[in-house]
Amino acid sequence: MFNAILIEKDDNGYRAELKPVDEAVLPEGDVLVEVSHSTLNYKDALAITGKSPVVRQFPMIPGIDLVGTVLESQSDKFSVGDAVLLNGFGVGETHCGGLAERARLKSDWLIPLPSRFAPEQAMKIGTAGYTAMLCVMALEKQGVTPDKGDILVTGANGGVGSFAIYLLAKLGYRVVASTGRVAESDYLKQLGASEIIDRASLSEKGRPLGKEQWAGAIDSVGSQTLANVCSMIQYGGAVAACGLAGGFDLPATVMPFILRGVTLAGVDSVMRPTEDRLEAWQRLAELISDDMLDDVAEQITLNEALPYAEKLLAGEVRGRIVVAI
Ligand code: NAP
Repeated sequence: MFNAILIEKDDNGYRAELKPVDEAVLPEGDVLVEVSHSTLNYKDALAITGKSPVVRQFPMIPGIDLVGTVLESQSDKFSVGDAVLLNGFGVGETHCGGLAERARLKSDWLIPLPSRFAPEQAMKIGTAGYTAMLCVMALEKQGVTPDKGDILVTGANGGVGSFAIYLLAKLGYRVVASTGRVAESDYLKQLGASEIIDRASLSEKGRPLGKEQWAGAIDSVGSQTLANVCSMIQYGGAVAACGLAGGFDLPATVMPFILRGVTLAGVDSVMRPTEDRLEAWQRLAELISDDMLDDVAEQITLNEALPYAEKLLAGEVRGRIVVAI
């Protein structure tokens, strides 16, 4: 038996509880991992609270990120004692995840924990930081270089937004942060933002083509915000879209794309091929300092993950939440 947050759905309803779980609950996989740290992401909070149908198979252990040590391996890629890292691949949604003392996983989903990071540091970064890095790489691929102009980051105080600001600033971009929590401006400036705007300025229906303001953008909000952002990107610029914190719709027109050659680059971190994961984590290892990680996350216990899920969805959490298992 081991301790886990278990999500169950039956005649008594939908519930998530911390409880001892039998190893038989774990699905098939060729590597058994002793989990040391996991995280609480937006998706985990949705799964724990049941506020969105993230989990469709029950019982399920949430936790889309984990770091741990290999306990058993039938794979030639990993040996007992190896430190491993996992982000996504449906873990915590369709396959039992990281908010537990044990996880049985497919070796194809794992990468070695980069030696630059301690386990809790890798989880401070987690899917949010790894996705922010993928977004930066998407802008780079579209030729958005620091000399082209400012980069807008929406959802600035969130996990993805905070890391996007830091990584862009580290790479020499001038960053404009859009937030609903303007009171956190000092924190955003400390991360590297040069200018803060109120997210309300992007949330109302705008014109098909607005004033060209940014060479690129990283958007974790979606909906009207993303539509407005696209309409205000400079000629030839690009938007990396990764999130739906403001909604999953996209009430946009084709005008920015056909008249300004703007690229809307979709970014998925979940099913990303291993070579992209290795590249993103290599770049994170090069760019992120220990000081930044000290400030960007708070650490909680497995038990605290349940109330924190509500807080996260209520927008009361700044930055990242690491769960020490
Ligand atoms: P998070 O920490 O909860 O941050 C989301 C941020 O969005 C909030 O901090 C808030 O920032 C802003 N926001 C929240 N509600 C909003 C609303 N109604 N309108 C406008 N802005 C709003 O979440 P996260 O981990 O950064 O993830 C952000 C989004 O990206 C989520 O939708 C998540 O599902 C998605 N995501 C996707 C991938 C992928 O693979 N594509 C990977 C990771 C995350 P301010 O307070 O600063 O305004």
